[in-house]
Amino acid sequence: MNIHESEKIAGVLEKLGYSPCDSEQKADVLVYNTCCIRETAEFKIHGHIGEAKILKQQNPNLIVVVCGCMSQQSGVAQNLKRRFPFVDVILGTSNLDLLEQAIVNAQNEKSTVNVEEKNNVLVNLPKVRTSRPNAWVNIIYGCNNFCTYCIVPYVRGREHSRPQQDVLNEVKELVSLGYKEITLLGQNVNSYGNDLKDGTNFSTLLNQVAKIEGDFRIRYLTNHPKDLTDDVIEAIANNAKICNSIHLPVQSGSSAILKAMNRKYDRDDYLKLVSKLRKAIPDIGISTDIMVGFPGETDQDFLDTLDLVQKARFSSAFCFIYSRRKGTVADKMEQIPRSVKGERIKRLLEVQNVITKEISKEMEGTLQRVLVEGKNKKYVNTYCGRTENGRLVNIKSDVDLFDQFVWVKIKNYQSATLWGEIVKED
Ligand code: SAH
Ligand code: SF4
Repeated sequence: MNIHESEKIAGVLEKLGYSPCDSEQKADVLVYNTCCIRETAEFKIHGHIGEAKILKQQNPNLIVVVCGCMSQQSGVAQNLKRRFPFVDVILGTSNLDLLEQAIVNAQNEKSTVNVEEKNNVLVNLPKVRTSRPNAWVNIIYGCNNFCTYCIVPYVRGREHSRPQQDVLNEVKELVSLGYKEITLLGQNVNSYGNDLKDGTNFSTLLNQVAKIEGDFRIRYLTNHPKDLTDDVIEAIANNAKICNSIHLPVQSGSSAILKAMNRKYDRDDYLKLVSKLRKAIPDIGISTDIMVGFPGETDQDFLDTLDLVQKARFSSAFCFIYSRRKGTVADKMEQIPRSVKGERIKRLLEVQNVITKEISKEMEGTLQRVLVEGKNKKYVNTYCGRTENGRLVNIKSDVDLFDQFVWVKIKNYQSATLWGEIVKED
């Protein structure tokens, strides 16, 4: 989501005649696209904005912009302006449409602070895409779920979907430009269409996108287990273009913690969903997000998480230490010690690493269609790409494979990364 927003920021800057440069020292405009989902991201960005002060002293014409969800938090824009008075532009998550004017104002030494919430993020901003062969496409903005740990609903507003035709037009254009992977984006893609009231929902959208002609893959991020319907599972199973891979954040394996998180499913619901997915789409890769150290998480709750991880057999898991976020319900709950959280994340990662390796081993000898994403900078003449079910594969090749589908036989693996040999170009 943030990467795609940065692509829009770059699009606006390009429209104004700017082009990317390779160091902050050479820049005419510096944009910090912030994230406040966890404390660590916030600390880092404060450090970076602090450094901009020196750059501004060296180049008084430098324009410094702060946008993204951190600036949208209540009272933060004013605090930022006070702490970093040299910042020229501060915009909230729904004010990117003002960026162009704000930069022009800054060129004329007039600063802009606007974090007023509004529902117009549907405006089609220009984009400089940076992740070919993949292209990101927003389908729904905001979130209505209010998981008790999460700041997103406070900084990205309520759910609002893009009209289906808008999405289809964008995908068609991207496919005609040669993009081979389209990733549909939303905090909860499964809520797509709820607010449109025109009969469209996520499964109708998936089916329509899959009808677009051309050789491309469809991915989508992120799914909420409480809203993943049978129609969507059917759409994934029935459409060859939709990848057999799904990101399905579980957050915890303890029903009591899931309840306290306001996730609206329990561990059995989740495990049943995993079985249903595996039955409908046998080779599906399931990845997840897991958090440890949520307030009140007991040793037993944590063991339940480890047990769920063993049962669900995720091909990968993004594991996070719970981070207190001001204004959320969980922030007011009794917190657990940092050392306990540190211990738990270590154990969780160990358990998941073993599973990741086992799944890699199971893939040895299989034939996989890989979309090559780029060169592997660590090894010579080596490209890397992804299988349909989401695993990274390194491939040795003397010829340039970037942006191509290739058929690969998996020869061996290092933990999460597979090594493959080209069987034939597509
Ligand atoms: N909308 C998506 C994910 C949004 S944030 C969803 O519902 O799954 C991405 C991940 O960050 C979440 O899945 C969660 O695991 C993690 N996260 C969110 N808030 C967090 C917090 N306060 N502390 C630690 N991790 C958090
Ligand atoms: Fe945050 Fe929950 Fe919304 Fe995801 S669904 S963005 S975790 S509130």
